[in-house]
Amino acid sequence: MKKNLHIFSILAIVAFCLSACAKQVEVDNQIGNQIMSHMGEMVRQETEKAEDQVAQEKADAEKKAKEEAEAQAKKEQESTVAQMPKVEAIPGQHRDPNSAVVVIDPGHQLRGDSAKEPNGPGSSTMKARVTSGATGVATKVAEYVMNLNVSLKLKTELENRGYTVYMTRYTHDVNISNKERAEYATSVEADIAVRIHGNGSSNSSVRGAETYAPSAKNPYVSHLSKASISLSRCIIDAYCQATGFKNRGVFTSDTMTGINWSTVPVTIIELGYMSNAQEDRKMQDETIQNNMVQGIANGIDKYFGF
Ligand SMILES: [Zn+2]
Repeated sequence: MKKNLHIFSILAIVAFCLSACAKQVEVDNQIGNQIMSHMGEMVRQETEKAEDQVAQEKADAEKKAKEEAEAQAKKEQESTVAQMPKVEAIPGQHRDPNSAVVVIDPGHQLRGDSAKEPNGPGSSTMKARVTSGATGVATKVAEYVMNLNVSLKLKTELENRGYTVYMTRYTHDVNISNKERAEYATSVEADIAVRIHGNGSSNSSVRGAETYAPSAKNPYVSHLSKASISLSRCIIDAYCQATGFKNRGVFTSDTMTGINWSTVPVTIIELGYMSNAQEDRKMQDETIQNNMVQGIANGIDKYFGF
């Protein structure tokens, strides 16, 4: 009996140990589970954090790109604004087209003349009397040829509308400097001078039309700035509307001899870029050329308030 009791005691102790052991295992399991679950949570949190970070970086990059684009657009707008002086009331004389006199100056001539002339009245800066001009990159048409063709059509159109029109040249083989072209407008008592040119750039993708006028700070013709800018604005807008050409706006220039010697409101229209193959071909297209002429004439009408 005593022996049985002893065995029983041992069994009880073993049972107790086993039970304690099992409990410990259970506890260990719980801890294990907790650790696993905690680790899972950590992994989940880390993943979320990583995802958040990627999203944040993406948002930051998008924000930065947006800011850069806005800054660029602002910069472009500012430079465009600088190129396009504000146009106030149209100072053209509001009267009948029959009494308005327009001088058309078809830019350049067969051969340039590198002899020098003063850049403006009293100026010590000397510039070539007249340069030879650009050439169409695709059509090979010389600028002085295009300028005269467009000018002759413009003369007819303006005369049909009632204007009195004078031209600085009717042929290519002439030698008339930019100063002399300006003086011609004075001699015929023109109301305005419209100088017809084609543009060129070393960058063949550059295209569009633009006009030039003296700035309010021009040392010779500041008093003509307002009217010239108005004339330039009227012409470039009507021209681009009629042709669909890109409107590059009104630029001011105080270094052009033909502008600095003017005594009447003056504009240079650069019809388009002859260095751009597509635009070069367009400017030689008969239908488009008629639209170009209509556009310039519409702009002149608008300037005078007709
Ligand atoms: Zn030119």
